[in-house]
Amino acid sequence: MSDSSKAITLLSIGAHPADVFDQSGGTMAHHVARGDRVAAAVLTHGARVHDAVISSQMFERETVPEADELAALMQERADNKAQEVRRACEALGFNELYFLGLDDAALLLTEEAVRQLARLIRDVRPNIVLTHYPGEGNGVTNQHAIGGQIALYAMQLASNVDPGDTNPPHKVAQVFFFGTGAASVRSDLWSAAGGFTNDVFIDTTDVIDKKLASLDALESQGYGGAYARKRIETADGAFGSGARTPYAEGFIKMNAEVHYHLPVTERALAMSTMSDHEMIERQSTRHNAG
Ligand SMILES: [Zn+2]
Repeated sequence: MSDSSKAITLLSIGAHPADVFDQSGGTMAHHVARGDRVAAAVLTHGARVHDAVISSQMFERETVPEADELAALMQERADNKAQEVRRACEALGFNELYFLGLDDAALLLTEEAVRQLARLIRDVRPNIVLTHYPGEGNGVTNQHAIGGQIALYAMQLASNVDPGDTNPPHKVAQVFFFGTGAASVRSDLWSAAGGFTNDVFIDTTDVIDKKLASLDALESQGYGGAYARKRIETADGAFGSGARTPYAEGFIKMNAEVHYHLPVTERALAMSTMSDHEMIERQSTRHNAG
């Protein structure tokens, strides 16, 4: 697989504020380092998701504040989360960040959401889109799946003109869905479905510190500190095992690749010359961040 030699534009689209970092932080850091343009879009404001005030404190109370007060508090928490997300981007070396501000109560596949994201795509003009696998979980109410579906429809719409948007149509060259399965064992009815596999791994071992710093920035949802470290070991470490390397991020590519010769990576050739023990030693490095 030969890499494109000219700079490309990447857009990582996540349902919630932490998703793009959890699922593609290391990969984005690599592309920033190569000189590519990297941008991230967060579909929901994320005020409800794992927030220390909205999702934790409210859970303990007898009654929650009246509508106006609650709405103001949620706005404040959303703003706080947005600041953390900006810091998470900085940890990875980029600052092009878009918030679509959709409600995270029930993220729905609506025309409004699709149209808003399509406009962003016509504006940013990404060559590669990273987003959630549209069949994640049950593929129906799973928020990540809906995020992936909104992204797919938005790419469709973006490849056409839309009255009110003066940007010309834009086509995305390749889509990589966030890999699934590394962070959790199959433990519910929906896991019985399948038919897809993580078929692209990005070895993120060299930028795992940057990814850790980006997760540490997401304090208000409890990601900083212990959770970030556990997550790196269990999710990135599990993807790493699949890729025979300490840490990796997994993806599922949408379009088949077209080549002139049969593709084989430099890495696959190098690994085919390693003994089993060399391979095990190679993937056993652990991040010692304390
Ligand atoms: Zn999420």
